[in-house]
Amino acid sequence: MATYERSINAYLRAKRVIAGGVDSPVRAFRAVGGSPLFVRSAQGATFIDLDGREYIDYVMSWGPLILGHAAANVVRAIQTAASRGTSYGMPTELESELAELVANSIPSIQRIRFVSSGTEATMSALRLARGFTKRAKVIKFAGNYHGHGDSFLIAAGSGALTFGVPNSPGVTEGTARDTIVVPYNDLDAVRKAVSANADAVAAIIVEPYAGNMGLVLPVPGFLRGLREIADASGALLIFDEVITGFRVGRGGAQVREKITPDLTTLGKIIGGGLPVGAFGGRADVMNELSPDGPVYQAGTLSGNPLAMSAGIATIRGLTEDVYAELDRLAARLVDGLGEVFTRYRIKHQISRVGSLLGFFFTDVPVVDLETAKTSDTALYARFFHQMLARGVYFAPSQFEAGFVSAAHTDTHVEATLAAADASINELMQVAG
Ligand code: PMP
Repeated sequence: MATYERSINAYLRAKRVIAGGVDSPVRAFRAVGGSPLFVRSAQGATFIDLDGREYIDYVMSWGPLILGHAAANVVRAIQTAASRGTSYGMPTELESELAELVANSIPSIQRIRFVSSGTEATMSALRLARGFTKRAKVIKFAGNYHGHGDSFLIAAGSGALTFGVPNSPGVTEGTARDTIVVPYNDLDAVRKAVSANADAVAAIIVEPYAGNMGLVLPVPGFLRGLREIADASGALLIFDEVITGFRVGRGGAQVREKITPDLTTLGKIIGGGLPVGAFGGRADVMNELSPDGPVYQAGTLSGNPLAMSAGIATIRGLTEDVYAELDRLAARLVDGLGEVFTRYRIKHQISRVGSLLGFFFTDVPVVDLETAKTSDTALYARFFHQMLARGVYFAPSQFEAGFVSAAHTDTHVEATLAAADASINELMQVAG
């Protein structure tokens, strides 16, 4: 079959010169098998691969593109910014403008600083928490992913989980010792970890809705419990909202759940598809940063004018009407998928918050990494390829979330559900 020929050739070329042929591991399709698609272009809810086939996209660059690919207002903003210069290494008012938009939406962010990736945001937030509390240890949750900083590559989710290397070689024992890993949704484990490390925990970091082991939602009381434990112990509470920020509503997970973290990390949507991250929170904590305070953090391209412009345009486009429509459409998609799975008696679990969604092939309710791992990943891989062949692109791994954008329509959802029915039908025949 010549269907994927150009992508296959492009991958062979890439592998000769790029490590593993990709610049980020999950792109390599290892979890589902086969050769990754190379992209020619994208518009709205769809992209076109090198072989000229069009796909409905539910990855959307892993979350940033909430307005869709190449949204006209975002492209215009980038073009205007580019014509004025791509980087200055000096401040611009664009940074304050985006900062104000973020702070007005997420009240816990009294001060912010922009960086160039989610990884940088979480690394910087943790250093700041350590500097502020004068403590060393961090508590994180198994299956949560906070980028590839050394401190977070312990029981990490996303690609680290997909490839079975949640603990990476190259992370020193000393660093690993300062990271305490507990199960998601397990407050008792957090309490035990805190009391076993009295006065040593600088921060508890959590994905308030966990989107890197599939989508796993917090049980009632979990996030409030974390707030209480942090307060009682003197640790800072960090919400990693790199995925959830502006995704599950303007105020992210924290406004939805009415929990105020000390620090928040952001990325993805606030850069509108350009490389951006940010961390922010309590003014007294953020004031510890250089140049006002002693905690060092810096970046040549931090606050880049193109990235700021794309972020501003994206956030401006996120009206209440857009969120309502995203919610309606994503509900229709997961309800429809649930009906298809039920029709064919496929055991499954589905989760969704707004336009962020996930599904597992298991009859075990998924509340943490252990239960997420009960999913039939071989079935997921077969389903993925069936859908791909029908022009629908879900994440090339069970342990990632799905994203609906404002460019998706009922027509896309109907086509997706028809493809899902045909895919499962074919899988059942093969199995039967
Ligand atoms: N935190 C979370 C919750 C993430 O999902 C990710 C990336 N998917 C990161 C941090 C790291 O962001 P980046 O890939 O931009 O470094």
